[in-house]
Amino acid sequence: MQLQLSALRAQRGTMDVYRHPTMLDARPAENRSIDTASRRGPANGAITRMLDRSSARPSALETFWRGFRRFCPRCGQGHMFAGYLSVRTACEVCGLEFEPLRSDDVPPYFTLFIVGHLVVSLYLAFWRMLDMPAWAQALVWCGLTLVLSLVLLPFIKGGVMAVIFLTKAKA
Ligand SMILES: [Zn+2]
Repeated sequence: MQLQLSALRAQRGTMDVYRHPTMLDARPAENRSIDTASRRGPANGAITRMLDRSSARPSALETFWRGFRRFCPRCGQGHMFAGYLSVRTACEVCGLEFEPLRSDDVPPYFTLFIVGHLVVSLYLAFWRMLDMPAWAQALVWCGLTLVLSLVLLPFIKGGVMAVIFLTKAKA
């Protein structure tokens, strides 16, 4: 039994040598490490470059946030809009073309979805507290809906365009 165990250990030891080729090296550890480092140099460089690239790539949330603030989703520096809703042809910093990121009627849909839920909730919560005639209430809530929609729409359009950029959806 003892013999079998030691034979097994010896076998495992041999396998360890295959897994760690440096174990075959009889030289002192400090000499070995220099040698293996120089041998693995290019491969390590490639891995480092890959890691650099992945760390430089922004997260999906960061890309969305860039678009929401109406900046280019790729570089985060160029402006995506020339006016209130008119989109530039390309980014002035990185050259990303904005034409393929057409959002069509998705931004108004999301804007109405958000504003509708918000205003109706506020109305249901506060309409009794406002001591106003019905026509004044209608004016206040409709006015709030209009203002919120107009304020949110350009930002939501930027965010939607960033999501199209992220998912590479075809317009
Ligand atoms: Zn850009």
